[in-house]
Amino acid sequence: MMGDPNLDAFPPIERRIFCNRTLNFRGVKAVGYDMDYTVVHYRVEPWERRAYEQVKVKLAELGWPVGDLHFDPELVIRGLIIDTERGNLIKANRFGYVTRASHGTVMLDFELQRKVYGRMLVELSDERYVFLNTLFSLSEACMYAQLVDRLDEGRFSAALGYADLYRQVRRSIDEAHMEGELKAEIVANPDVYVERDPDTVLALQDQRQSGKRLLLITNSDWAYTSQIMRYAFDPYLETDGGWRSLFDLVIVSARKPDFFSQRMPLFEVATEDGLLRPINNLRRPGVYVGGDATDVEQYLGVSGEEILYVGDHIFVDVHISKSVMRWRTALVLRELEDELRAIEEFGAQQATLARLMDEKVRLEYRFSQARMRLQRLQNGYGPATTATAGELREIMSELRTRLVALDEQIAPLARRSTEILNPRWGPLMRAGNDKSHLARQVERYADIYTSRVSNFLYETPFVYLRAPRGSLPHDDARVLA
Ligand code: IMP
Ligand code: MG
Repeated sequence: MMGDPNLDAFPPIERRIFCNRTLNFRGVKAVGYDMDYTVVHYRVEPWERRAYEQVKVKLAELGWPVGDLHFDPELVIRGLIIDTERGNLIKANRFGYVTRASHGTVMLDFELQRKVYGRMLVELSDERYVFLNTLFSLSEACMYAQLVDRLDEGRFSAALGYADLYRQVRRSIDEAHMEGELKAEIVANPDVYVERDPDTVLALQDQRQSGKRLLLITNSDWAYTSQIMRYAFDPYLETDGGWRSLFDLVIVSARKPDFFSQRMPLFEVATEDGLLRPINNLRRPGVYVGGDATDVEQYLGVSGEEILYVGDHIFVDVHISKSVMRWRTALVLRELEDELRAIEEFGAQQATLARLMDEKVRLEYRFSQARMRLQRLQNGYGPATTATAGELREIMSELRTRLVALDEQIAPLARRSTEILNPRWGPLMRAGNDKSHLARQVERYADIYTSRVSNFLYETPFVYLRAPRGSLPHDDARVLA
C-alpha cells in the first residue's frame, strides 16, 4: 500500500476560494497578478501608520492641527464610503441605502442618520463619494475623519469645508505614496512591513509548471517592486533567476486603471538599475514599464476570457479589468479571514437569533390575524368569527406580552451580529441583514474572491470553481410553513 498522501485535507473555511461566476481554472491560460496587498501582503497596522505619519508631517507643514492625532486601525474598514460633502463616513447596503454613519469619528445615532440619509441612495459615480477600495485607504479615511472633528472644534484658522479637507488629505496621501521617503522606509525595514507567505511562491510555481503563463502587473515602480519581490519570494526559490523566473512578463508603473482602458506608451527595462528603452510592443519575457492590457493580450495571443487578473483594489483591479477588458477577475480580501472566523464563532448565537426571529414572525402573523378579525367584527363586515371582541383583545394582549419579551431577547443578539469584525462598522460583507455595498461590488466584478493568493495552493491549477445556486427571498418561504 502506498502511504496516505492525505488527499482529502480541505482548507479551513477562511482559506477557501469563493466563486461568483463559474471558473474552470484549466481554461485559464495566463494569470496576471497585482503586487501590493496581492502577491505581497503588508502588515496593515505598521504600513498604514507609516503612511499616516507621512501625511501628518505634510499637513503640519501647512499649519494644520494634526499634532495630537494618532492612527487608529479600528476606526474604519475597507468598503466604507466617505461623504466628502458632509464630513461623514457611511456604510451602505447593496442598494445604496445608508445603514450606518459617522460624522468625523462620532457615530450618528439612528434618528440623525435617518434624517440625513433617509431619502438618499448612495451612487458611487457621484464624486461627492469616495469608496474605500483597498487597505491603502485606511490611513486616508482615518486622517480625514479625525480632521473633520478638528474642523468642527474650530481648530482651523483658514475657512475650509469638508470637501476641501478631503482634497488636501488625498493630495498628501498621493504625494506620500509617490515620493521616495515612505517606500524607502518600507524597503529598509521589510521585516516590519512585509508579511511573507512561502505558500504563495509554491502556488505560483504550481500554476507555472502546469503550463500557465504568469504576469506581474503593478503600479509600483521598478526599484520598489524588485526589492519587495526579492524579499518576499527569493528565500523560497531555489532557481537562479529568483522571483523573476516565475513571471513571463513583469510590468511595473502600470498606471492602472488606465492600463486597462487606454493605449499607453511602453518601455523595456534594459538594465538592472532601471534604464528604459522605448519599444512598440511586447516581444519577449522581461521587465517593462507602462504599456497596456491590449499589449498584453497581443503578446500572449489569448483573449480576455482566458486571462485571470488577481488584485486587491476593488475598482482598479477587478471593476475596470472586468468591465473594459472582460478579463476573468479574482479579488484578494485579506480581512475575510477575520470575518469568517468571527462569523463561525458567532454561529451558535446566529442560530438562536434565527430561531427567535422565526418565532417573532409567527407571533406577529397571529397578532395581525386577530387584529383583522377584531376590525371586521367591530365594523360589521366580512365573514363571521366565532370569537368575541373581548376574546380577540385578550389574545392580542397576550401575544403583545410575548412579543415584547421576545424582543428583549432578540435586541442584544441582533446588535452583536452587527458588531462582528469591527464594533463600529460590523462585518465587511453585510450591512444589517443585507449584503453590503462592498459585497455588491465584489459579486458584480470579481468572478472569484479569497483572502490571499496562497489559497490557490489548496485548489490547485486544475480546479473547477462552481458558483453556488444563488439565493432568492422565496427560498426562505418555509419560515411560516
Ligand atoms: P499595486 O497594488 O501593486 O498595483 O501597487 C499599488 C501602488 O500604488 C503602490 O506602489 C502604492 O504605494 C501606490 N498607491 C497606493 N495608493 C496610492 C495613492 O493614493 N496615490 C498614489 N499611489 C498610491
Ligand atoms: Mg494592490
